[in-house]
Amino acid sequence: MKYISTRGAAPDLSFEQAMLTGLARDGGLYVPDTIPTLSEGDIAALAGLSYEETAFRIMRPFLGDAFTDDEFREIIAKAYDGFGHAARAPLVQLAPGHFLLELFHGPTLAFKDFAMQLIGQLFEASLTRSGDRVTIVGATSGDTGSAAIEAFKGLDAVDVFILFPHGRVSEVQRRQMTTPSEANVHALSVTGHFDDCQARVKDMFNDFDFRDEVRLAGVNSINWARVLAQVVYYFSSAVSLGAPQRKVSFTVPTGNFGDIFAGYIARKMGLPIDKLVVATNQNDILHRCLSTGAYKPDGVIPSISPSMDIQVSSNFERVLFDAYGRDGKAVAQLMDELKSGGFTVSQGALQHLQDLFLSGRASEEETSATIKRLRETTGELLCPHSAVGVKVAEENLDPAVPMITLATAHPAKFPDAVEAATGLRPGLPPRMADLFDRDERVTRVENDLAEIEDFMRGKIAN
Ligand SMILES: *Cc1c(COP(=O)(O)O)cnc(C)c1O
Repeated sequence: MKYISTRGAAPDLSFEQAMLTGLARDGGLYVPDTIPTLSEGDIAALAGLSYEETAFRIMRPFLGDAFTDDEFREIIAKAYDGFGHAARAPLVQLAPGHFLLELFHGPTLAFKDFAMQLIGQLFEASLTRSGDRVTIVGATSGDTGSAAIEAFKGLDAVDVFILFPHGRVSEVQRRQMTTPSEANVHALSVTGHFDDCQARVKDMFNDFDFRDEVRLAGVNSINWARVLAQVVYYFSSAVSLGAPQRKVSFTVPTGNFGDIFAGYIARKMGLPIDKLVVATNQNDILHRCLSTGAYKPDGVIPSISPSMDIQVSSNFERVLFDAYGRDGKAVAQLMDELKSGGFTVSQGALQHLQDLFLSGRASEEETSATIKRLRETTGELLCPHSAVGVKVAEENLDPAVPMITLATAHPAKFPDAVEAATGLRPGLPPRMADLFDRDERVTRVENDLAEIEDFMRGKIAN
């Protein structure tokens, strides 16, 4: 299995190399050169299996000879061991024909744990074998950083540094990053906004001396291994509703297009998915693009679903690559146009996208109203991101095809928005009820590349 860049001008890599590299050297994203498919019989045979065994069967063909079957089974077992629900990704019914896939039972209460826990174990296994060490660095507005710290804490072959904007993450998110006591974890509270954190991380990758010196590695959502881990729950949930005999549709609250792109891969692997519905908040660039073809960023407006407040949806490049017939030059051209303000998807490519993807948006008021109404009609407390999904899903229900909406975070991760909508303040699950009593460890830094790099050097040397 080879991995190729969406811009067509970087070397082909193996699974392991693509995972450790992240972004391709031509600025593109790695994708498999061919997508392995499962027969109807293979899919039917997933019925009743554990989440871990399903994960093994879905992901195995993408790994090539990176790990033996036994090694990979052990990696998966360790990855999902810390989840708070035996089913890992349980499905609950909201209404006739409408189901909610709860992806928030991982250690940091957001779906990002599914991919990050796996990637942590994959990195550790790969680096232990090669004897290398790497430095993981990431910028976060909250969920990615906490998931990364939880996944990499205490591992021997990595140091992990997470930059978050000082005073601009929720208290639960901050504490999830600052309370782990493992010496290889470093939470940096940066004077500035998320964009400043992201810019400093980019600067580090462009500082080639530093990059080589500390062996910098990235685990942001463009990492192919993260996408792959998310393919699994599309299969497990669809099979529990009757696939492959019955089709299903999915609605996915979307920011960087990573989670929904995993659904697209599941469909290419042979899962009978009817529609994939893109659900955005008021930052609706993807909804506008899928409706009109015009992809024009116009400024982030902060919302109550902050993990979807994005302007540039990085994984969208992967689906454009397919929509343009896997023409890397065409994709590189679009990304050049994006630098000077935006691009318009060609008629043919837009048709290709609209054949599969539907889309919709939820305003702030609609999101709050959905949290309130679902509490009343089902007893389910939704986080604001999941509520965006439910609202858009309801507009796209088809009586003939069950709809599965992805619930991407636990309501307790966004207690203010949930309380404002319902009057109820959601509590943390018992296994982390002491989060507010744990000691915090955090380093305050200025928004200054040299200062941050010096701090990192000092920590890595010790
Ligand atoms: C990251 C995140 C999203 C968006 O996921 P993408 O893969 O970027 O589309 C949605 N909801 C929550 C809670 C998240 O943390």
